[in-house]
This record gives sequence, structure tokens and C-alpha cells, in this order.
Amino acid sequence: MNQAVIASNEIYPWLDSHWSFFLRRLEADKLAHALLIEGPAGTGKTALATAMVARLLCREPTDFACGACRSCTLLAGLAHPDYFELQPEDGSEVIKVDQVRALIGKLDLTTSISARKLAYIHPAETMNAAAANALLKSLEEPAGNAVLILVSNDAGRLPVTIRSRCQSMTINQPDAGIVRDWLAKRSGQSGRPIVEALQAAGGSPLRAAAYLDSPVLDAFSRVKASLASLLGKPAAVSQVSHDLGALDPLDLWRWLSICTAEVIKSILVGQPLDWLPANPQLRADALLDLQRQADKNRQLAATQVRGDLLLQVWLINWAEQVS
Ligand SMILES: [Zn+2]
Repeated sequence: MNQAVIASNEIYPWLDSHWSFFLRRLEADKLAHALLIEGPAGTGKTALATAMVARLLCREPTDFACGACRSCTLLAGLAHPDYFELQPEDGSEVIKVDQVRALIGKLDLTTSISARKLAYIHPAETMNAAAANALLKSLEEPAGNAVLILVSNDAGRLPVTIRSRCQSMTINQPDAGIVRDWLAKRSGQSGRPIVEALQAAGGSPLRAAAYLDSPVLDAFSRVKASLASLLGKPAAVSQVSHDLGALDPLDLWRWLSICTAEVIKSILVGQPLDWLPANPQLRADALLDLQRQADKNRQLAATQVRGDLLLQVWLINWAEQVS
């Protein structure tokens, strides 16, 4: 639960239309009993879900939850008797059937202080098959006044039976102009740092905001400088690999993928990059392989695979493009 959002009277600007849609449905008494908020990570799905939960439970709402009534106070203290949150527990990566059964039992009880009961399930795709099955009936015939809000970064992994019973709200990667304005206003910065943060974040506004608040953008610049310096010089891989190996592997592989994609784009549109001069020996098809490998290695970074070896091999392939 994102507590800062509960008393907030605004939503991220790129979510305005989602919020209006939600309010219109609510005011017309046509809000579905099960909502699925889906979209890429870092686009504000949690904030949207939290604001909805608070608005639906609030006893004196306007467009947003009031932030001051008994319901809002209890919710902010994570002690609201009509609110239930379901997520993987105790180091597990899945939501289990017992958790879903316990939730359904609680939803069947009468409400205590709000007009509805609210369940917030996230990330919904982590429900295992038995858990998803157990939830189906509640999605079909929810207890009288219950609303279930499911949030997913990867809704393609949800069973069709679950998806088809939810009203879906999709958050796409927001318009870059809106996000740049928001980042500038929020951080007090402008120009290049904003563009670089958004680039390093792969377009995700919340990740870009976190990058602007931290020294991490220097690391992103270092990755680009390293890639430029390595072209045609495989002998330097060992040192560069050692330097870059100190970075967070998820960030590093994301950035190697993003930088490679930028080079591909610059070849296709014939525009050199400021960090890597045009080189006729660079080929889009070879770079595409490198980008795919970087994406694959990012998945592997979470496993036991020797990350240092993956990085060395990738950097050698990068360096040897130009000989
Ligand atoms: Zn309230």
C-alpha cells in the first residue's frame, strides 16, 4: 500500500484519463466488481490502485479520498477492517491458494466501517493455478459489496478465465512530453538530465524519477563511455568488465540493451549519437543479436549464473564488431 497517495488530491498526469474513467463508472454505478490494472513497471499502477482503494472506502469522498475521515485514517495506518491486501508472502514468489481462500472468507463477512470491502491483489500474475482457480468464483459472483482490484506488470501470464472476468484498465508507456514536464516540475531540473534519466529508465516515469534523485545517472554515462571506448579494442574488455561488474546487474543489462537499441536506431535513421560517432562497420543485424542477448542476460541476472562471465562474453562480442 502506497500510503502517501491516500491523502493526495492528485494522480500522476498521465493517469488523468484513467482516473476520470474510474470516477465516471463509479458515479454511474457501473463500476465492475473486479478491475485489472495492467501495464509496464514504473508507470504508476500501484498509485492508481491505492488511490482507487482509498476513494472507494472513504466515507466523505470528493473526486479523491478525503484523507481525514475514520476510513482514510485507518487505511493510512494499515488497520482498515474492510481492506485486504494479497501478495506473495514469506519469501515466496507466488500467491497461494490458502491466501485466496482466506481472503474470500473475509470478503463474505459484513463490512465494518465502509460501504464496501476492498481486496488489492498484486502482482496478480504471481497467483499459482490453484489460487487463480479459487479466485474465479469470487470474480464471477463477488460478495455483495466487495470490489477486487488486481494489478499486473505482465497480464499475459494471467489465465484467460481471470482476465475475462475483470474490467481491464491498461496503462501504456506514457507520452514522453507529459513525463518530461512532470519530471522537470518534480525535480527542479531541466534539459539533459531529464532526457538521460528517461532514456536510462527505458521510458518508465517512476524509475526516471528515482534515477534523478540518485547518483545513478553518472553510472549510465559511464556505461555509454565504456561502450564507445571498447569498439575495436577487445583487449580492454577485462578492465571494463571489472568496472561495470560493480553496477547493479539489472540496471547494467537494461542499459546495455537500451544503448544498443539506440545505436541500431541511429544506423537506421542515419543520425550519429553524441556518445558514439557513426561507424560504417557497425551493422544493425549484429547489434540486434547483442540487444537480444542483453535482454536475456538481464533475466539470467536473477539466477545463479556467473554474471561476470556473461558480461565478459557480451563485451567481447560488442568490441569485436569493429576490427
Ligand atoms: Zn476519507
